[in-house]
Amino acid sequence: MYRMKHDFFSLKNKVAIVTGGNQGIGKVVAGYLADAGADVVIFDLIDATAVAEEIAEEYGVRTAAFVCNVTDPEAVESEIQAAADKMGTLDLLFNNAGICLHKEALYCTPDDWLKVVNVNLNGIFFMAQAFGKYLVSHHKTGNIVNTASMSGTIVNIPQGQASYNSSKAGVAHLTKSLAVEWADKGIRVNSISPGYIRTEMTGTVREDWQEYWISTIPFKRMGTPEELAGAVIYLLSDASTYTSGLDMIIDGCFTIV
Ligand code: NDP
Repeated sequence: MYRMKHDFFSLKNKVAIVTGGNQGIGKVVAGYLADAGADVVIFDLIDATAVAEEIAEEYGVRTAAFVCNVTDPEAVESEIQAAADKMGTLDLLFNNAGICLHKEALYCTPDDWLKVVNVNLNGIFFMAQAFGKYLVSHHKTGNIVNTASMSGTIVNIPQGQASYNSSKAGVAHLTKSLAVEWADKGIRVNSISPGYIRTEMTGTVREDWQEYWISTIPFKRMGTPEELAGAVIYLLSDASTYTSGLDMIIDGCFTIV
């Protein structure tokens, strides 16, 4: 009677953009999206052609890479159009590029603050808006997953991340706002909020801080980008057709203790 559709989680015949896909979470999730059947376009500050080619070879999907600074709204619009022209269409966006700054609020310069908020919040908005415009103007439905952070819910330790925490809280609320605004357009917008995940970003954090984190996470370890991929596929796929505006926290129980 009730059987899970064989292709419930399939992203076949979909084209997905992944921002910040040259490394870290973006790169790993891009591979998983391809494994789920999607053609993948990587946007990054630097040319990610090598990553795109690796994914195409490994999973037998079409891929492309575009240099795009997500803080530049004009570049975002033109690169989304270029990606659509190259791939024929666009369906999914993993809106993931972000940066982190460890600097106490008292010493944070206006430039420090603006830089973090510009990439983490403005960049997410510019990408989502241009992607939404593309979908609406082509009478298409589509799906967006933004990368927020558990730091948008709790205050990270050690402190000194007011800009990061605030920008990520903004992403989770932007997600809800867009979800409601675009609900009648067939565009779903959700976010993931990772906890401490081992990537290049956290790799630069002092060893003693990392040890402290691990001692305070109920799972007693940091997560991996692979452990986020299933959530992104779920939110981008037909397995979650009644879900929009959700912020999925994936943190080894860190925020609930
Ligand atoms: P990484 O630093 O490893 O990767 C981030 C990627 O984003 C890089 O390829 C980077 O390019 C790219 N990028 C940065 N700025 C821009 C920009 N303006 N335009 C386009 N691309 C850009 O980070 P993670 O993979 O760890 O993080 C990915 C996302 O997950 C971020 O939004 C982060 O805030 C979030 N997150 C990460 C957590 C973690 O523990 N790692 C926890 C919670 C959230 P380049 O290297 O060339 O600068």
